[in-house]
Amino acid sequence: MKYVIVLAIIVIIALCTPWFLLKFMRRVRAVTSYYGLKAVDRLDALIMMFDENEKFWYMNESANKIFHTEMLSRSEFLDVWEKDEDEEEDVLILKRGVEFRYFQCDEQELRNKRGKLRGYIYILHEFTRERELQEKYRHSATHDSLTDLYNREYFIEKAAEFMKENPNEVYYMICSDIKQFKAYNEVFGVEAGDKLLKMIADELRRNDDHNRVYGRVGDDSFAMCIPKKNFSDVAYLVKSSSVLRARSYNFPIANHIGIFEVTDVNLSVSAMMDRATLAISSIKGDIQQEIARYDESMRKELLQEQEILTDLQTAFNEKEFVIYLQPQISHETKAIVGAETLVRWLHPKKGLIPPFSFIPVMENNGLISKLDMYVWEMACAQIRKWTDEGRNDISLSVNISPKDFYYLDLYKVIMDLVRKYEIPPSRLRLEITESAFAIDLKKQVELVEKLQEAGFIVEMDDFGSAYSTLNTLKDIPVDVLKMDMKFMAKAADADRSANIIQMIVGMADKLRMDVIAEGVETKEQADFLGSVGCDIIQGYYYAKPMPVDEFEEMLKKYEYKDMTELEHHVTK
Ligand code: C2E
Ligand code: CA
Ligand code: CA
Repeated sequence: MKYVIVLAIIVIIALCTPWFLLKFMRRVRAVTSYYGLKAVDRLDALIMMFDENEKFWYMNESANKIFHTEMLSRSEFLDVWEKDEDEEEDVLILKRGVEFRYFQCDEQELRNKRGKLRGYIYILHEFTRERELQEKYRHSATHDSLTDLYNREYFIEKAAEFMKENPNEVYYMICSDIKQFKAYNEVFGVEAGDKLLKMIADELRRNDDHNRVYGRVGDDSFAMCIPKKNFSDVAYLVKSSSVLRARSYNFPIANHIGIFEVTDVNLSVSAMMDRATLAISSIKGDIQQEIARYDESMRKELLQEQEILTDLQTAFNEKEFVIYLQPQISHETKAIVGAETLVRWLHPKKGLIPPFSFIPVMENNGLISKLDMYVWEMACAQIRKWTDEGRNDISLSVNISPKDFYYLDLYKVIMDLVRKYEIPPSRLRLEITESAFAIDLKKQVELVEKLQEAGFIVEMDDFGSAYSTLNTLKDIPVDVLKMDMKFMAKAADADRSANIIQMIVGMADKLRMDVIAEGVETKEQADFLGSVGCDIIQGYYYAKPMPVDEFEEMLKKYEYKDMTELEHHVTK
């Protein structure tokens, strides 16, 4: 009996073994034939197999390193993965802590020849590294390397997407531009400049409410697209500009901001940015104003500016620039004591164009120095002419743009001119503005001192304007203060204005400086000025700027007393 049982077992085993072997061989064949490889186990790809009942059946070594053998069923295996809507369908993501691993997954059903389902095979290729590289590349192509904000191109793309998401919202396109950034870089170095940019970027990030898009769109310019209702001028300004100021060692720096309210959603993002930027250029030299909103007139102005630029070359060639002279008169004696040279453009079609229409354009395009040299030369030629006619006492003042300090070797240019026309330097008075000293005060002060040593009289123009601070006067050694009544008139109350004038005159007296009051339009103003000791008046009250021949007529009627001949004018 015992033997019968043993025999039966042997027979059963003998009969079943080929069946098991066959089954096993079939599955392995399925895998190996799929790959054309025998060393499935050693493949880098992860291979998992489940039988027709979705029970775990096989995994290779690579799969084993990740899943060990805890995997029981196909559905458990499928549950392990994170899904990401942005990813392609065959991409599976494995999340372990903060780490993500990415796999390309190929899923196949295994069927026998008759088409009966025998199981499932999953072949997974990991591409985490490639993906990281790709991400890195994508990031560097879309982000600014210094601040890690979106770069210009990506900002444009993202802003367009952002506005499209909610087309009924009203948006602001905002661009900013740091005034004096180039100069800041020159004075404090590129690293300091980079620091400023990073600070602005940090501010933008800190205020991010995830309902805005922003980026660095130029060297010193940033842009932001934001729903109008979420924007507060004050918050944005205070944050960006005060951060700059806090770190800029009293350097006159400001983050100017232009706002374009998106009225036409069909406009391209870059056209929206152009408009916001155009609004910034309307701020121009105004250091007080930091924010400007775009309006259509700005575009018209831009077109006019472009027209001016095209006409400028002919203007020089055809000698269309002329000088007008505005007399400076002693209120007490009514004698003419000098005149200011003011440029005019005699345009063949547009007639007489005043300087404010073309000087700012020329200042922005580096052309101002060419014009200034031209005007100075005309002034020198005029002084020479008068000297030849026996009038060797008349002096003219000329305007020096702050830009001339950077574009020209001022000392050489001016010395060459007075030498060429053989006139004493004291006949050519030089009007400079405080803004010329904003950068490298020490160097500019040395230049002024050198000019004074050579005999030039240096005048501080527009004193009392937004730029002026009484403080700088002690550093800048000018001979004359030109105090502009226009700026005084702006002061809210008249008493305060009067006090300021009195204070300026008194202080100028202490510093042994003369004061010329300009923009004086009424007798009351002139009398008041006289009463506080400011006698020299330039303004419509006495005379408007006039062509040279008219000024010469005036000289015949009035006594001429050179300013330097008058005793120190301040009497109190
Ligand atoms: P500025 O140097 O302050 O010149 C005085 C301006 O005030 C002149 O305007 C003059 O016509 C005007 N003005 C004189 N008296 C009165 C008055 O009583 N009331 C009023 N409301 N205005 C008065 P203008 O000639 O239009 O020149 C404007 C500015 O253009 C000048 O201001 C100066 O900054 C600039 N400018 C003129 N000529 C030149 C030049 O040759 N070179 C440079 N760089 N700038 C120049
Ligand atoms: Ca002037
Ligand atoms: Ca002035």
